[in-house]
Amino acid sequence: MSAEFLAELRAIVGAPHVLTESIDIAPYGTDWRGRYQGQPLCVVRPGTAQEVAAVVGACAAQGVAIVPQGGNTGLCGGATPIGGEVLVSLTRLNRVRAIDTDNNTMIVEAGCTLAAVQEAAAQAGRLFPLSLAAEGTATIGGNLATNAGGVQVLRYGNARELCLGLEVVLPDGRLWDGLRGLRKDNTGYDLKQLFIGAEGTLGLITAAVLKLYSRPRRMATAWASVAAPAQAVALLTRLRETIGGRVTAFELVGRPALDLVLKNIPDSRDPLPGRAPWQVLVELADTMESDLDAALEEVLDAAIAAGEVGDAALARSEVQARALWALRENISEAQKIEGISIKHDIAVPVSRLPEFIARADAALLAVFPDVRIVCFGHLGDGNLHYNQSKPLAQDNAAFIAQTPAVNRIVHDLAHELGGTISAEHGLGQLKRDELPRYKSAVEMELMRALKRAFDPHNRMNPGKIF
Ligand SMILES: Cc1cc2nc3c(=O)[nH]c(=O)nc-3n(C[C@H](O)[C@H](O)[C@H](O)COP(=O)(O)OP(=O)(O)OC[C@H]3O[C@@H](n4cnc5c(N)ncnc54)[C@H](O)[C@@H]3O)c2cc1C
Repeated sequence: MSAEFLAELRAIVGAPHVLTESIDIAPYGTDWRGRYQGQPLCVVRPGTAQEVAAVVGACAAQGVAIVPQGGNTGLCGGATPIGGEVLVSLTRLNRVRAIDTDNNTMIVEAGCTLAAVQEAAAQAGRLFPLSLAAEGTATIGGNLATNAGGVQVLRYGNARELCLGLEVVLPDGRLWDGLRGLRKDNTGYDLKQLFIGAEGTLGLITAAVLKLYSRPRRMATAWASVAAPAQAVALLTRLRETIGGRVTAFELVGRPALDLVLKNIPDSRDPLPGRAPWQVLVELADTMESDLDAALEEVLDAAIAAGEVGDAALARSEVQARALWALRENISEAQKIEGISIKHDIAVPVSRLPEFIARADAALLAVFPDVRIVCFGHLGDGNLHYNQSKPLAQDNAAFIAQTPAVNRIVHDLAHELGGTISAEHGLGQLKRDELPRYKSAVEMELMRALKRAFDPHNRMNPGKIF
């Protein structure tokens, strides 16, 4: 890296915000799971959108590629350099620019953590419903760049559905102000949608207009055991038919996933006796005063009578509800503590989930009899984290070597059932090479044409998606 280029970057963002020492750069060059490493030329931490634009412009002039990074909690190696890029960290862009409670919108900068966005909305008496286990660290820019899902998609939609406008720095350094807070705008192509879910390959998001919602006045949370995934789907259908739009979350947790949490996360406790093979976490919310607990209890009683549910525990306080959620949200952490794993983030239509699980289990166990299948996820969205943990006796390298064969079974089946190989985490480096197998030639060509139009020199997050 030339001394002049370095000096130019320092002049834009201030010398303390250009990191060049290996010890300072190292955390930015490794992903959350420790599966990807890459050495950037340097890490630049701009503090405003204008600084981001100037940094990107300087990189374009030098022909240097860029990796955008937010909280670095992505699970696909999307924010990890492949080597030789300038890594632009957005975490200093952390201001809430405006909240409009009549329009029910807020404008936030890309580096705000998701938790900070939720908190700012709460302080204004509103709800920003995107919620996921990494929300204390993940940034809203990263959430939008990956079109994050999380636990309330069932009711409010994923990040794409919660965004009305964007401010983006384009690969040549121009700043596009698309911060419109409109729910209706049919003036040609909806450009913001191209940047959402693009994993930083088309531009760098610096701010967003987000939708706000009324805060629920009542919540009800329950943990219920079911004999099999088909019973869980039946319970979801029953809930939708009786309680409808008040169902905000419906999560499935397989026994091995729950056992990992009970083993590896202190103070965890199984809410139900009997070691059922499957459990679901249900949450309802209502913006009106209503007896949601009674409504949920009634549905669960009917489900028990119909044989869909074995047993159920209703949270009687917020503390109890949080304890139930902790069991679900700590699964990724517990799996990480247990050792390495092969992760999948598939989605199929909800009605086909039981068939997916049964067939994938059978096919995997036929080839890898010792593999530990850790299955959990957002059943209400048809999205499963269908993961495999390393058998205790196997060594890491041998287990990782099985990844292509495991992927083939899982991804081919998801595709066959009308599903996707990436429901909410994106492709990054992890699933990049799988894409052409499952997208048609027409889809691949349209995606490549868009990439060429926005980033003809392939300088924006190279080696990701394509
Ligand atoms: C414990 C745990 C639980 C999780 N649960 C969920 C879940 O339920 N649902 C879910 O969807 N995800 C989940 N994730 C994955 C992760 O939190 C999300 O993908 C999140 O949206 C990433 O945000 P980030 O700021 O950490 O992005 P990063 O990891 O920093 O980046 C992710 C991608 O976005 C790009 N990017 C980041 N910021 C910008 C920007 N401002 N402009 C353009 N591109 C950018 C990066 O280049 C990279 O390609 C989980 C992760 C962990 C560790």
